[in-house]
Amino acid sequence: MNTNNISESNAAKEKNNNAPYYYEEPLHDLCKILDFSMDLICSCDEAGRFVWVNKASERILGYKPEELLGIKYSDFIFYEDGAAPTNENFDFKSGTHASIFEKKFIHKNTNIIYLQWSAVQDDVKNLCYCIGRDITEKKNIEKAFETERLQFFNIYSQAPSYMGILNGPNHVYELANELYLQLIDKRDIIGKAVKEVLPELETQGIFEILDNVYQTGESFCANEMPITFDRYSDGKLKDVYLNFIFQARRDVNNAIDGIFIFGNDVTEQVLSRKKIEQSEKMYKDLIHKLPVATYSCDSEGRIVLYNKAAAALWGREPELGKDLWYTSWNNNDNKKKHAAPLNLCSLAAALKGGDPILSKEIIIERPNGDKRNALPHPVPFHNADGEITGAVIVLSDITEIKLAQKELRKSEKKYRYLFDNNPMPMWIIDLASFKFLDVNKMVILQYGYSREEFLSMTALDIRPNDDKIHFIKSSDTSHINESNYNRGIWNHIKKDGTIVPVEIIAHNIVYEGTAARLILSNDISDRKKAEANLEKRNRELIKTNSELDRFVYSVSHDLRSPLTSILGLISFIETESREIDTLKHAELIRISINRLDEFIKNILSYSRNNRTGILPEQISLNEMMLDTVDSLQRMKEAKGIRFEIEIKEQKPFYTDKLRFTTIIKNLISNAIKYHKKDEADRFVKIFGYSDHENLHFSIEDNGIGIDPAYHKKIFEMFFRLSGKDGSGIGLYIVKDAVEILQGSIEVQSEKEIGTKFNITLKNLKPC
Ligand code: ADP
Repeated sequence: MNTNNISESNAAKEKNNNAPYYYEEPLHDLCKILDFSMDLICSCDEAGRFVWVNKASERILGYKPEELLGIKYSDFIFYEDGAAPTNENFDFKSGTHASIFEKKFIHKNTNIIYLQWSAVQDDVKNLCYCIGRDITEKKNIEKAFETERLQFFNIYSQAPSYMGILNGPNHVYELANELYLQLIDKRDIIGKAVKEVLPELETQGIFEILDNVYQTGESFCANEMPITFDRYSDGKLKDVYLNFIFQARRDVNNAIDGIFIFGNDVTEQVLSRKKIEQSEKMYKDLIHKLPVATYSCDSEGRIVLYNKAAAALWGREPELGKDLWYTSWNNNDNKKKHAAPLNLCSLAAALKGGDPILSKEIIIERPNGDKRNALPHPVPFHNADGEITGAVIVLSDITEIKLAQKELRKSEKKYRYLFDNNPMPMWIIDLASFKFLDVNKMVILQYGYSREEFLSMTALDIRPNDDKIHFIKSSDTSHINESNYNRGIWNHIKKDGTIVPVEIIAHNIVYEGTAARLILSNDISDRKKAEANLEKRNRELIKTNSELDRFVYSVSHDLRSPLTSILGLISFIETESREIDTLKHAELIRISINRLDEFIKNILSYSRNNRTGILPEQISLNEMMLDTVDSLQRMKEAKGIRFEIEIKEQKPFYTDKLRFTTIIKNLISNAIKYHKKDEADRFVKIFGYSDHENLHFSIEDNGIGIDPAYHKKIFEMFFRLSGKDGSGIGLYIVKDAVEILQGSIEVQSEKEIGTKFNITLKNLKPC
């Protein structure tokens, strides 16, 4: 209150002093009672000035009654934020109706106090009677309560858990924080029953749980409870995992009137844990199914997981979580049978160092005493902090490999022995530099160089200078046959300077990790000499043959002229002589001369066959057959033989005419010659056809036939069967001619039945 107000109050006091009717009887009697009142009781005039105030004013406002008299009550009203008082009158009600309202007042000690007023207007006296109750304490409690409520609300709405309150037995949402709304993806749920908001919970027993909490007051705690509901309000049910508590809410009378819901959506944690569990299971499955001995151990080396292959390798089933990895091991040291010193153990090193280690070989000793060689490969695990929590160990059983290596070493020794003692000279050269890598004893023996000398030389050093260019390179495929062997013949120089021809066989190999070539060398000096001799003899033979050929030809040719002269003389004798004996002898001479002439003709034909080249020309087949048959019909054996000739000339046939004539003449004359005299229907059939490629024809008779035993023999030179006149050279010449004309001949014949020659000749048509 400022000084102006005080002076105003004094003025009011003065005014009151001058109005004696204010101090009349009613007040006088009640004054004492009223002074004891806890409430501020006063009366004010129409201007709001205190006319009378009881003593409570001192306790409530800090002013003695006399200090207040004449002062406007509005001077003590507290205006929020210093707002100016505007028409600040108590809301008085006339007559008996008292109005009740609250106002903040300023205590003398500047504290704000709350006064609850009830006031009534006395229209007659124009006074207002007021009772002001100090409700400051109540107000402060209310304020504290409100603050607390707000704090709670803040906590509730910002809580990292979802929260809600259900009211009444029907579980109607009274409150739901943001997280709860997000969880169910719904708004405007307040005032609605859970059944209405989340009908999908019906089948999941949630309503029963709520009912139970409501009825019994027992809280319900769920841990990672799977709940299925329309999580995203899209009509699709989703699984969520929730941790939650349903707790009964009680009213002032301790009666249950609702349920608190607190909870957390732990779906992600559960799913990621499940994933971890799944991957752990997969990892365990993987270890179990691995065909290689595999196990895992903790950071102390205790076996926590192992597969069948590991148990099989160890020959025992270790006790999980107890047995240590090295129980069955020793580090290749037979004395330390069961436990390798940790500092030697690769797993211990891996667990200490934290890096995968491909360790050295170990020996595993089984309970039955069997020993297995193994190569452990430990891979340590780390947790999120980088600490080593254990390791997985793969044990490769290398027992068989070791045995095989042993065998290999044995066989290497064997091969070394075979190489060294091989009677063939053998050496190995580097494929790139041709340097000698190894030589066997025979090489040293044959070539005269020492082993050391060889090892300081290249393969080119044992080649004569002018030969070097022919050295077979690995890329020279012309010398490589299908099995990748190279062969070659060339010269080598021995230490004493002699040059020897050698045949070498070379094969590419890997020798001590390098590409190399194994070479076998064979001295072929003797073979070369023999070949040279053979060649010389061949040349001589060819010369002799051609001389012989020429001789046969000239002899045959020259022999024919005297034969013709003899035949002329015989004709003369036959015309001139009347002596039966002379004529008989002349006839015999003629037959012999004819036979001899025939033979010489054959020899000449054979000789010609060999000497002259093929001159293909188109042959009129039927015509030639007919002409030949015609000329041969003069033979006396031809009498009574029926000839059938039919060659289908589908394509013009080309061949060497002279040789063709020789073939058919010989075959037809044989068919006539070797006929049976007494056969009823004697025939010679010549059938065949020519096509683009060949001429096929056969000459068939029903004569005396040939025993199958002689079918091959008849084609040999001078082979004869029957007692008939003949030289035994005809079929030989036929076969020879057929072969020269690129054809074939075969015979089908049976004794006393007949003979058929099948001939095929190539159509030597001009290109
Ligand atoms: P040859 O001058 O004796 O006829 P070939 O070489 O022509 O000589 O025949 C050899 C032998 O084959 C003949 O001696 C004969 O016994 C037999 N031969 C050949 N052709 C016939 C045939 N058509 N019928 C029966 N025998 C045959």
